[in-house]
Parts: sequence; structure tokens; C-alpha cells
Amino acid sequence: MVYDALIIGSGLSGLAAGIRLAMFNKKVLIVEKHVEVGGLNSFYVRKQRTFDVGLHAMTNYVPKGARNAPLSKLLKQLRFRHEDFRLCPQHQSEIRFPGHALRFTNDFSVLEEEVARAFPAQIDGFRRLVAKIRDYDELDLNNSRFTPARAVVQECITDPVLIDMLFCPLMYYGSASEGDMDFYQFVIMFKSVFMEGFAKPEGGMPYILNLLVDKYKTLGGELRMGAGVKAIHAPDGALQSVELENGETLLADKVISSAGYIETLRLCRPCPVEEARCEEGRMSFMECLFVLDRQPKDLGYDKSIVFFSTKPRFDYRVPEAAVDVTSGVLCAPNNFDYPQPGEGMLRLTNQANYGVWNDMVRADYRAAKKEWRERAIEEILQFFPDFRHNVVFTDAFTPKTIFKYTGHLNGAVYGAPHKIKDGRTPIRNVFICGTDQGFLGIIGATLSGISMANLHVLQAENKPEYGRI
Ligand SMILES: Cc1cc2nc3c(=O)[nH]c(=O)nc-3n(C[C@H](O)[C@H](O)[C@H](O)COP(=O)(O)OP(=O)(O)OC[C@H]3O[C@@H](n4cnc5c(N)ncnc54)[C@H](O)[C@@H]3O)c2cc1C
Repeated sequence: MVYDALIIGSGLSGLAAGIRLAMFNKKVLIVEKHVEVGGLNSFYVRKQRTFDVGLHAMTNYVPKGARNAPLSKLLKQLRFRHEDFRLCPQHQSEIRFPGHALRFTNDFSVLEEEVARAFPAQIDGFRRLVAKIRDYDELDLNNSRFTPARAVVQECITDPVLIDMLFCPLMYYGSASEGDMDFYQFVIMFKSVFMEGFAKPEGGMPYILNLLVDKYKTLGGELRMGAGVKAIHAPDGALQSVELENGETLLADKVISSAGYIETLRLCRPCPVEEARCEEGRMSFMECLFVLDRQPKDLGYDKSIVFFSTKPRFDYRVPEAAVDVTSGVLCAPNNFDYPQPGEGMLRLTNQANYGVWNDMVRADYRAAKKEWRERAIEEILQFFPDFRHNVVFTDAFTPKTIFKYTGHLNGAVYGAPHKIKDGRTPIRNVFICGTDQGFLGIIGATLSGISMANLHVLQAENKPEYGRI
């Protein structure tokens, strides 16, 4: 059997690419090295509780009927109805720095009013920035020039604290690079976080993943779990076959890989020389989960998500130590418009260093998780009520965990800093989708899978109407 397309990885981008191709009667196979689907956004069970791995919120929320928004395009391309995703919008979120707080909701005018209230001298510049963002075509797959976002933002806004406050959520939710980000990525994130907004699916990631897998299989797509790809054989620079870790050989006309750009090149035999020139992603996080004996709002936590810095200036970079507790994201997953909130829960995300965690021996690793979790809580008590006596269960995962379960080098959640927008690799008929293609997060990764399937398989068959989403 020769597949029309073989997809590496059953994360959101791989599943979306698979659905799109199966929908057009392509013979398509997804191979996943793990036993659960979802990749960076999967779920796991501990002590009879199911935890989402990555989900704080889906960005890009728009209500039913909104036109031309990424979520609407995604639903249309995958042939879902808005209600199929069971999205529950956020209440309100916040950016909190020493002496400053900016609230925002899924109504963009709230953020605008907050900027005018807290930084009155900056509001005209903020509006100029917003106009620039609205006019920008961030989905142009042919634009590969790096434009530093801070320089563009500084042309409009002069207060460094406001600049840091705007960058904080956008970098935490989508920057593979330290310090600054490419302006196109800033625009994607600004629109998806501030101009559209947050929602959570009722039932969390297990619900969404089941929905995608069901659709894929109903359309005739094949999915093989525990089927890691060991090698992509490509003599003479063209795809020949795919070898699984169990030694089996698979044949396909095209491969679309969501494993990451460098990770995919390293699977190729021979490995293309380009691999040595690529910079690896390094930005990763420690995530602590706290199950509480009551709802966070009963303890004074009424925001859906808070992006914070306890220092006056925000630094987004890999810390020297295991974790940087001075900034982070605090998420209360039940502070969404949920019909039936589950157990009380808080999630805390901080920047972390893969190398430090990876070098620890087992006993030290466990002790370090406990130590850094306590330090992370102590730090946020500068802003938030003490919830330590209300914790009934806690767990934490580190960059090492992320690497183990996704294969992304250094546990880099947003992949490598340089994105391959057109998804091409030096190997003929091997393409990438997902994180390293450049659309990030749950909605971004899903759109990436759709657009790469459209571009490299469907449009390649001279059906240009499939090319752009
Ligand atoms: C802690 C955390 C919190 C997050 N929070 C949010 C959030 O709140 N909102 C949001 O929108 N996004 C969030 N994200 C980001 C989001 O999860 C990712 O951007 C998105 O899921 C990436 O999907 P992907 O398909 O590109 O990659 P992945 O999910 O990484 O999929 C790649 C898949 O390929 C498989 N694979 C790799 N190598 C091989 C191989 N050799 N053979 C077979 N299979 C292989 C992997 O096992 C994996 O399943 C979060 C991520 C993390 C880690």
C-alpha cells in the first residue's frame, strides 16, 4: 500500500492535516510514537483525576457567526459547527505588574479603556499600534523577513512598562524567541489574545481530541499509536520510504511531519546539511497544578488568567536557574463560563531551563520540583491570597517532561525561533506542519495542519481554491 500522505504526530496539527486530507478521499495515515493523541496539548490521569497537559485556554475565541476569524475558518475547513467545540468564554483576565494592572476580556474595548485609564499619555500611541496590527497580513506564507516587534511597538508606545505588559501574555502564549519576537508573530498573538480572546471547551482537551479523532476515522483516516518514526529514507534528496521504530517500512507519496523542523531533518537519511545551521528552540516552562478544596473565586481569584511579573520589567528568556519565578501565568480553569465547573483548580506556569532539569538525577529532580513549586507559590503571594491550606492534590511537570512526551528538543513548547512558513524542507515531498511552521497554540497548530495539507497535497493537485485559508 502506498499512502497519499503519511503524517508524523497526532498533535493538533497532525490531526487537522489528517482530517483535511481524508475529507478529500486521500489515503492518509497518522503515525504517533505515544499511546495518547494530543502531543503538547494532551491529557493525563493521576489518582483518578484527568488533567489537561497544556490547556489554559483556547485563544482566538469568537462567537458563532463571526466572519473571517481564524476559528471560523478552522471550523469551516474541518466541517464542524461552532457548537461542536462547546466553547465557554472567559470572564476576564489581567496583566499584573508591580503598581499596574490591565484587565482584558473578549471585548477588545475593555483593554483599550484600561490602557487609557492606566497609561493616559500612551493611549494615542496604543491606538496607532492597533491600526497597524489590523492592517497587517500576518498569514502571508511568503514573508520570511524577521521584523523585530519591539522596534515596531516602540514607534507607537514610549512607556517601557506598558510595552512589557503587552508583550508578557503574547510571549508566554506564543514566542519561541527570547527577548523579542517577529512582528508577524506579535500580530498573530495580539489578535488571538486581545482582539479575539479566550475560551475553554467543556470537557477540556479529551473532548476536543476525541472529536478530531472521531471525525478523522469516520472519514477513513488511519491512526497508528505507539508507532514512532525512526527514519525518513531520502536518498538523492527525495522521499523514498519511512521506517518505524519497530523496523516496519511504510511508503507514501508525501510526508507531513509535526515533529518539529530540526527534529524532522534529523530523522532523514541522509540528514540534510541544513540541519547543522538551524538554531534549536529553548523556551520552556514548568507547570504546577493545584487541586483545591473550593473554587478559586471563593479564595479571591476571580480572573480566568493572570499574566504577571513581580519585577517592574518583564524578562522573557531561559533562566540560568531551573525556574524563573518572577513572572508567569496563573490560570483558574473554572473561571470560564462553565455550565458545571469541576473541582477547584489553579495552574501556574513559569519559565524554566531544560538543561538544568535534564542534568538532575532522579532523587534531586523530585526534590527540585517540590522546592521550585513552593518558591513559585511564595512569589505569587505578593499579588494573590494564600491558597496553600486549600490544596488537596498537586502535580508539576518540567521541560524534561515536555521533551519526553513530545520529542520537541529542549522541551521547547513553541519550537525553534526561525519558522518555516511554507512548510518546505530540503527533502522533496517532506513537509512540516505545526509549531515550527509558525502558527502556534491550539488554534494556530490546527490551522497550520489544515494549511499545509491544503498547500502541499490538495493545491499541489492544481486545486488552487484549497491553497489559502
Ligand atoms: C504546558 C503547556 C501549556 C500550553 N497552553 C496552551 C494554551 O493554554 N492555549 C494554547 O492555545 N496552546 C497552549 N499550548 C501550546 C499548544 O499545546 C501547542 O502549540 C500545540 O498543541 C502544538 O501542536 P503541534 O501539532 O504543532 O505539535 P505537537 O502537539 O507537539 O505534536 C507533535 C506530535 O508528534 C509526535 N512525534 C514526535 N516525533 C515523532 C516521531 N518520530 N514519530 C511519531 N510521532 C512523533 C509527538 O509525540 C506529538 O504527539 C501549551 C503547551 C504546553 C506544553
